[in-house]
Amino acid sequence: MSFEAVIGLEVHAQLLTKSKIFCGCSTQFGSSPNSQTCPVCLGMPGVLPVLNKKVVEYAIMLGLATNCTINRNSYFARKNYFYPDLPKGYQISQYELPICSDGYIMIKTKEGEKRIGITRIHMEEDAGKLIHEGAHSLVDLNRTGTPLLEIVSEPDMRTPEEAVSYLKELRQILLYLGICDGNMEEGSFRCDANVSVRRKGDTKFGTKTELKNINSFRFIQKALEYEIERQIDIIESGGKIIQETRLFDSSKGITISMRSKEEAHDYRYFPEPDLMPIFVDEVHIKKIKESLPELPYEKRQRFKDQYNIPEYDIEILTNERDISDFFEKCVSLYNNPKTLSNFFMTEIMKELNERKCGILETKLTPGNVVEIFKLLDEDKINYNGAKTILPKIIETGKSPSVLIEEMGLVQISDTSALESIVMDVLRNNKKELKEYLSGKDKLFAFFVGQVMKRTSGKANPKILQDLLKEKLSKISIDEVDNL
Ligand SMILES: [Zn+2]
Repeated sequence: MSFEAVIGLEVHAQLLTKSKIFCGCSTQFGSSPNSQTCPVCLGMPGVLPVLNKKVVEYAIMLGLATNCTINRNSYFARKNYFYPDLPKGYQISQYELPICSDGYIMIKTKEGEKRIGITRIHMEEDAGKLIHEGAHSLVDLNRTGTPLLEIVSEPDMRTPEEAVSYLKELRQILLYLGICDGNMEEGSFRCDANVSVRRKGDTKFGTKTELKNINSFRFIQKALEYEIERQIDIIESGGKIIQETRLFDSSKGITISMRSKEEAHDYRYFPEPDLMPIFVDEVHIKKIKESLPELPYEKRQRFKDQYNIPEYDIEILTNERDISDFFEKCVSLYNNPKTLSNFFMTEIMKELNERKCGILETKLTPGNVVEIFKLLDEDKINYNGAKTILPKIIETGKSPSVLIEEMGLVQISDTSALESIVMDVLRNNKKELKEYLSGKDKLFAFFVGQVMKRTSGKANPKILQDLLKEKLSKISIDEVDNL
């Protein structure tokens, strides 16, 4: 009997607002501990939270981008629990009436596109951070009150691959909207996964476990794979799954029991009395809708219609907004999308990956890239030359035509100059020449190679080939010794 997994994901996305959700403290990352705090986010008695309007706007943006219903009325609730990084003893969150609900996003799977439901998106405040040093634990409350959106999916995913695909799509939407930096290592895009397994064909869900805070796509894949295997093994050997929270140990590649899972009622949710309910009117929603940027799935479709390049190229080119904008600027200057796309896919992406940097952090400009293609079209350089100057442009920002002069890469397209080199090569390789003339055609490449060597790769390959063919066709084997 085969099993299938049922996976639902809860994502916490830290919002890129300048100030916190209920006070004016800065949200900047990396400042000295507890320097970005005030009586509100420290949870002093008698203070009142004031809602940051930007947070509501960002929540609506994400809701619209993920096909949610924007609830015109919603309110905040207190989620009560004790932990040293939570000074108030409760977290202000949303419970019964979140700001967005009932949405979906489309993800790619091996079997084609699949719709993954989004149950809800709600606003809440982040907790602080504990830093463990030897026998002590220190508390940094700079992060306390940083605005978060929690995005809860339906349990619609059936494999670890689908879960990763969903997360990548969601992260990309957040990045395109410009409301979250998506940095998983720094924790601004965090994910908890609810996993259960059941026999194929069953409609009832099995008992689920929750995997906490896994900080890379690779680890999510591994943690889910391990957990699914673990649960199947237990059921097959007649055991029962315990509902619990488990942590992924990335060094061992296993999940470990952390605590039994709380139920929602353990948190004693109740409406936050210090904040007014939130009302958003249709005009406001409409205004936000009109201001939304082009979203990843819209951009992919447009690239397909407009540029006629392969799906795989589109995937890579639209992965980051900076890359796709850069690519489009190049196309507007040099209308050959396929050629440009090839160059991006092979050469430019390779250089960026090696440097681990974004395209805007280099000195490359659309003008530079297009100039390379003009030099290629005019036969001033060959493709090898183009590859050689690319890293130099990236580092210095110099124009390709200046660089090919400086680096001596200007192609030799002058037939008479090439002719004398070709004859020289033939004279110096009489043995090979005789073999060629007696039928060993393969040696043609040898002569090409010799000329290339003599010209440091600068011979125009097309002119060289033609010239070499012509010369060789005119020599008879008896003439070789008197060349
Ligand atoms: Zn504060």
